[in-house]
Amino acid sequence: MPPVDLRSDTVTRPTDAMREAGLRAPVGDDVMGDDPSVNALQERLAGELGFAAGLFVPSGTQSNLLALMAHCERGDEYLVGMDAHTYKYEGGGAAVLGSIQPQPIVNAPDGTLPLDAVAAAIKPAGDPHFARTRLLALENTWHGRVLPLPYLAQARELAKTNGLAYHLDGARLFNAAVAGGTTAAHIASHFDSVSVCLSKGLGAPVGSVLLGTHELIDKARRWRKVLGGGWRQAGQLAAMASHALDHHVARLADDHRRAKQLADALAALPDVQVDAPQTNLVFITVPDGRQAALAARLREEGVLISAGRGPRIRLVTHLDVDDDGLARAIAAFRGFFG
Ligand SMILES: *Cc1c(COP(=O)(O)O)cnc(C)c1O
Repeated sequence: MPPVDLRSDTVTRPTDAMREAGLRAPVGDDVMGDDPSVNALQERLAGELGFAAGLFVPSGTQSNLLALMAHCERGDEYLVGMDAHTYKYEGGGAAVLGSIQPQPIVNAPDGTLPLDAVAAAIKPAGDPHFARTRLLALENTWHGRVLPLPYLAQARELAKTNGLAYHLDGARLFNAAVAGGTTAAHIASHFDSVSVCLSKGLGAPVGSVLLGTHELIDKARRWRKVLGGGWRQAGQLAAMASHALDHHVARLADDHRRAKQLADALAALPDVQVDAPQTNLVFITVPDGRQAALAARLREEGVLISAGRGPRIRLVTHLDVDDDGLARAIAAFRGFFG
């Protein structure tokens, strides 16, 4: 029996139908703009989310970096959440490779950046003491939470009043749309650029798409080449990603339902604290010092979790966790704590 892998939604394996879609895909040289399957993916996602153009890239990290490098010049600054992926979990790429200074803002518990703090962090224009504040970046979903739509509009207003570009790290944009009862296009419509991961809950093996204006995407394409991200006959991967968009969006609701079931079952256990999930991420806190024993015991039962960064553990439901797998995971937790 394959393990029930709750470590991340990046671990999904392509379905047979997805592999089939990849196998048959027409391909060409994407660096020359010739790959029909890559072009089809970029055009359809741009169309669906309301942008002029899209760029298929190997990872969400690269997609966010390209957005930052396309919006900002050397010596510019971007405003970003202190716990945002783009700031904290991407190796400092904006600073290292883009010469772009991050200005982190402490995230509120719901993942928003308090607008008074954002406003206070915008540097006076024209004063050579300061980096030039150029961009505001948000993340949705944020730690599995859906950012409120009115907030997206208020933050846009603040950004635009101050001449800032407005970027969304929408790694899990479709989870936000499905859980929030809205469309990905409506969420995306607030932003100048959006990065979407196809390799998370949507279940494609590899890839993200950056969306924006033609001008922005042309710049991003150039930086992609500079970073070594020109990827020739990438059409098979693109076709698998298109298959994911065709077949795996609405079913994200199943992942959210299972996350809720998991959270409810774990909340009933002694010694486990659970944050109520909105999407496919469940955060639990277990007594300090027991994480390693928990992970080892679950592994024996064929359930994988990532434990190691403190008492708080993230559990993730996805395409490869079905109802049986979920029941096995819950039973394994009960065995340890019960
Ligand atoms: C996974 C993730 C990314 C980037 O993903 P990679 O493809 O692993 O580089 C960016 N932002 C968020 C919020 C993510 O969860």
